[in-house]
Amino acid sequence: MDFRKILNTINEMLDEEELKSPTSKPNDHGVWDEETGRITQRERERRAGKADGDRMTQGERKRRASAKASHEKMSTNEDDKGLTSAIGKGVMAGVKRTTNSKRKLGGFDVKPITIQDSEVDEALKLDAPQNVLSRKEVHDYMDRIKDGTKTKADRFKPIVHGSNIKALLKSDDPNDRWDLDDFAKQITTPIKQILDTNAKMAKSKKEGSITYDLTLPAISGIVVDEETGDFVEVTTCPGAGECKLICYARKGGYVMFPNSSMSAARALNFLMNHPTEYMDMFDREVKQAKKLADKNGIKLLVRIHDAGDFFSKQYYDLSMDVARNNPDTKFYFYTKIGELAADSNAPPNVVSQFSSGSKPSEVNVVKFHRNAGKKIKDAITLSKDEFRGLFVTDAKGKYVKDTEGRTQVKSPEAWKQFQQQLGQKYNIDPEPVITYYQMVRIPEGTDPKWNVVVFPAGHGDLGATRRDVENQFLMFH
Ligand code: SF4
Repeated sequence: MDFRKILNTINEMLDEEELKSPTSKPNDHGVWDEETGRITQRERERRAGKADGDRMTQGERKRRASAKASHEKMSTNEDDKGLTSAIGKGVMAGVKRTTNSKRKLGGFDVKPITIQDSEVDEALKLDAPQNVLSRKEVHDYMDRIKDGTKTKADRFKPIVHGSNIKALLKSDDPNDRWDLDDFAKQITTPIKQILDTNAKMAKSKKEGSITYDLTLPAISGIVVDEETGDFVEVTTCPGAGECKLICYARKGGYVMFPNSSMSAARALNFLMNHPTEYMDMFDREVKQAKKLADKNGIKLLVRIHDAGDFFSKQYYDLSMDVARNNPDTKFYFYTKIGELAADSNAPPNVVSQFSSGSKPSEVNVVKFHRNAGKKIKDAITLSKDEFRGLFVTDAKGKYVKDTEGRTQVKSPEAWKQFQQQLGQKYNIDPEPVITYYQMVRIPEGTDPKWNVVVFPAGHGDLGATRRDVENQFLMFH
């Protein structure tokens, strides 16, 4: 059936009241329970031993650093082979991949994706995503956090909550105010789980699916190289452009409490220092969540990153291996890396979208692939100006939501006008511009055809998981 016919049928099913008061299913809220995989006592002890190792003396630290440096000097291909084979012991066994990096952290390559196509020029390559910080640099940054004197240059630095910085009680030296060993110990504390969900099972059952996701620090994070004891700043969103200025994951619940920012730092630290264990844990948790979803007769959806992005090709490959290892689970991700949004080798159970706010060079990569005929889904964030006047507001201009917390379109005419404007601005056919509410009532097809508008409140993320969604338009909230 032609998609316009489907749309007409759907529109007939929808009465005008629905547009005034959309009743789409919102994200549910709840907790992750005992089904979660726990780290073994033995592993806990082993890693606690590692954390203690972070308290090594300066001399010891230097010796290890210099040993590591000469090892790195000697190794290029051999290192990569060794790393690949070590990683291959886990869920990634048998998967062939190549690495081309020279820098490693704890044995994990963090160089960002190298664009291999010869027609893509130098400017499209990404920056180096990591930077070893001296103790003085960390100390000075902590000074600025504690004293409220952060500079413009600190804007995109790793977020550290002031409560995670402990004073050194015994030091009289004003240049040694903060307990960096304690800070390192917090970061290297083992994580208990990777995946999390806000969904309540009762609501998920109604919706037919449950979503789990994982979080990394947005823009950049601070980790400890567990071999050398060095603090290392890792760029976690190498493709981010202007989105950095309004990043949702650098505010609110993501960073408001000492635990929230620290748990993201711990996850990144674990990933950087123990990639094999991280991926095994990820794989195990997907399987546990799948069991739970199956038991309740619903689909499992896994969102890779609700904050952060793939910061290296290798990290991406490892994550795709987990997806391959769980073919009955749907994985999805938003990315600002054009090459990943265009990856033809992604497993069939993975849906990607290129989200707005990336570096212009990444947009060029996407253009290049589109010109070559590749379909790439966009997730475009609409500014408030682009939908001003569409929704019912009160005298103060605040959205009047329905009983389930959803924004309400003023009238079918207002919606029609919005569709036309969107079509003109983004050069798309306005007919298949539908609301999230309309989308969830259409059985998922295989070909991209729908342009789905996600309202500021009350709409969910299922459009990101569907192959028949050509683009998503996410209204800023
Ligand atoms: S890519 Fe996402 S998480 Fe990273 S800076 Fe942009 S909006 Fe924030």
